[in-house]
Amino acid sequence: MSEATHRGSCLCGTIRFEIEGKLGPFGFCHCTTCRKASGTAFTANSSVQRENLRFLSGEETIRRFESSPGKYRCFCPTCGSPIYKEMDDTPGVIRIRLGILDTEVGAKPQAHAFWGEKADWYDDPGDMPVYEAWAPVLKGK
Ligand SMILES: [Zn+2]
Ligand SMILES: [Zn+2]
Repeated sequence: MSEATHRGSCLCGTIRFEIEGKLGPFGFCHCTTCRKASGTAFTANSSVQRENLRFLSGEETIRRFESSPGKYRCFCPTCGSPIYKEMDDTPGVIRIRLGILDTEVGAKPQAHAFWGEKADWYDDPGDMPVYEAWAPVLKGK
């Protein structure tokens, strides 16, 4: 058995998983649905090949919510932690929520996406490029 690169879990610990290999590039998404799904100003998600994600416990408990057609936000029904997002148009790829990782990400965010939908109480882009909608360096929303 090979060593997993990353491990993560939900807040209550029911759902635990590991990821092999590198995480894809990520940024902060300020879109309205990400804000509602996270309860805060933005999300940070990274693309992972589904075959590189292995659940250690709790996979059968995960609930899915179709937040827009063909896009599913998957979360723990006990504690509400968002786990990942998956899309019908990118089969085999999921977008893992970086905030639930227990291991270090080992990379920095690269852009702000959907700045045009951001919360009025967050306005410091730091030194990252800002995109009103999709960020070219990032995939997905
Ligand atoms: Zn949980
Ligand atoms: Zn978003």
